Amino acid sequence: MTNPDCIFCKIVAGDIPGDIVHKDDLVTAFRDINPVAPSHILIVPNKHIPDNNTFTEQDEHIAGRIFRIVKLLAEQEGISESGYRLIMNTGPDSHQEVMHMHMHLIGGQGMKYPMG
Ligand code: AMP
Repeated sequence: MTNPDCIFCKIVAGDIPGDIVHKDDLVTAFRDINPVAPSHILIVPNKHIPDNNTFTEQDEHIAGRIFRIVKLLAEQEGISESGYRLIMNTGPDSHQEVMHMHMHLIGGQGMKYPMG
């Protein structure tokens, strides 16, 4: 299930370029175009889920995969021990910009937080 107007759906589908660091049957991870830290990766479901409020019981396995891949990517980035932040924005007060659910994995020295 994809949304033709969604930029993250287009990255998942390969229709526009993304700096992809991981892809499997459920999730895709790519580097944020405007990083706030040395490591700033977005992990997104391959299927179009707008945000956490529209996440359903049928998608629980996707959440598990997101957290497993976060752990893998943190190890690959060398930030497992030094530490990282996970952020998932939902709703207008959170300033969610892209309406395709995504987890920010942010780590490394000098991270700017909060964002924006
Ligand atoms: P959020 O405010 O949680 O919706 O975050 C959206 C994030 O997507 C921001 O950190 C943007 O820098 C990032 N972003 C927007 N467009 C792209 C893109 N084409 N490739 C990678 N990251 C993007």
